[in-house]
Amino acid sequence: MEVMVSNQSTRVLRTALIIGVFTTLFGILTALVNVFLIPYSLLWQTLIFIGTFTIYILFYSSGDEQLQREHDKQIHASRTLYATLYNQSPVPYLTLDEKGQVTTCNQAALRLLDTDTETIFGKTIIDRLQSPDDNAVSIAMGKLEANVSFFDTEFEIATFADQKRWVSMSMFVNETFNQRLVSLVDMTHRKQVDMAKSEFVALATHQLRTPIAAIRWNVELLERTMRETSSDKQKNYLEKITRNVSRMLALINDFLSVSKLETGTFATTIETINVREYLTTIIDEYQQAVTEKQINLVPTFEPADLMINTDTRLFHIITSNLLSNAVKYVQNNATIQFGYVATASTIVITVADNGIGIPAEQLERLFTKFFRASNAQLHRAEGTGLGLYIVKESVEILGGTIQVNSVENEGTTFVITLPLA
Ligand code: ADP
Repeated sequence: MEVMVSNQSTRVLRTALIIGVFTTLFGILTALVNVFLIPYSLLWQTLIFIGTFTIYILFYSSGDEQLQREHDKQIHASRTLYATLYNQSPVPYLTLDEKGQVTTCNQAALRLLDTDTETIFGKTIIDRLQSPDDNAVSIAMGKLEANVSFFDTEFEIATFADQKRWVSMSMFVNETFNQRLVSLVDMTHRKQVDMAKSEFVALATHQLRTPIAAIRWNVELLERTMRETSSDKQKNYLEKITRNVSRMLALINDFLSVSKLETGTFATTIETINVREYLTTIIDEYQQAVTEKQINLVPTFEPADLMINTDTRLFHIITSNLLSNAVKYVQNNATIQFGYVATASTIVITVADNGIGIPAEQLERLFTKFFRASNAQLHRAEGTGLGLYIVKESVEILGGTIQVNSVENEGTTFVITLPLA
């Protein structure tokens, strides 16, 4: 584009110059002829006009050819540069036609997909994609058909040698040339490292649970046997040990849940539960804190006797984490609404509080790992920042959605919608 602009301005300047020279030359020659030859001869004037005009055309076209040659050279240089970048780039690139069939590809793409040019041309690659999110492949397919670009979407891709690789795929649509440029960044190594990390965390936390459970059990025994004899100081020490051991256990359980969710090893077992009874036991878990903070907890169970089929561990993680947060992030005398409303095909669980809320500018990071809002840290409430990440992943495993509405210093409402099988 830049080349074209500079050529155009050069051409305008040159034309103006030549017309100027031509007009001056024509004027001088006509004047000379008028003075020294036959004054006002139409023939002379016509001959001079044709002569100078021919010189001008010859001069102009020779310059034009030169400009054209220069232009062609620049286009050739750009094409060579583009072809070198495309072919030699370490990032795998492919171009697809409107049917999604490969029309060109670079060396890195051939290496990534374990193939050669003869095999890959004319093949579709979208049908080689897989994703833990069932909709992701059909969304990508839809965007390809509708000529819509997309960026950095993770897929597992089956190579032509039937190997599985993880890629981050982007597609840029060039409507002028009816082309789709696809880049596939190989993420396999990073995924393997992530997986190894999660597996290590799962193993380590699993191993830590046994000794911690033993410590807790022995502290409990000590408390019971020393109930009559222990001094206030000793009771205080034992309480501190119990509290910290519980914290450690909660942390370990969170780490274990995260690694199981990330390694995809969270085996689901579907059971039938009475939701009202189940949520009442969850309320019981937090009864002590509710009483201490004098919270007005308002349960809403509609219909009162609803039976659903669900994975109880995931259902527990979701409801318990949300209620625990509501209790944790309200001041004394607050109100918490906790309950469900069922329709024919869904159960909608709501946990609403009028507590400290979440600052608007931090809401987008709410479901990321280790996120803790600035006001929560000031509120001195303990936490790991893993709970909501685990909740969101769990909701997704159950095929549901989670929505949040929060205003700082006014309160927070979480709404979970789960499909009823
Ligand atoms: P944490 O262990 O810190 O509670 P979570 O992942 O459960 O971790 O929550 C992440 C952050 O979201 C919290 O630290 C807090 O800042 C904010 N948060 C979650 N629930 C609420 C709520 N009901 N009211 C206000 N802030 C909340």
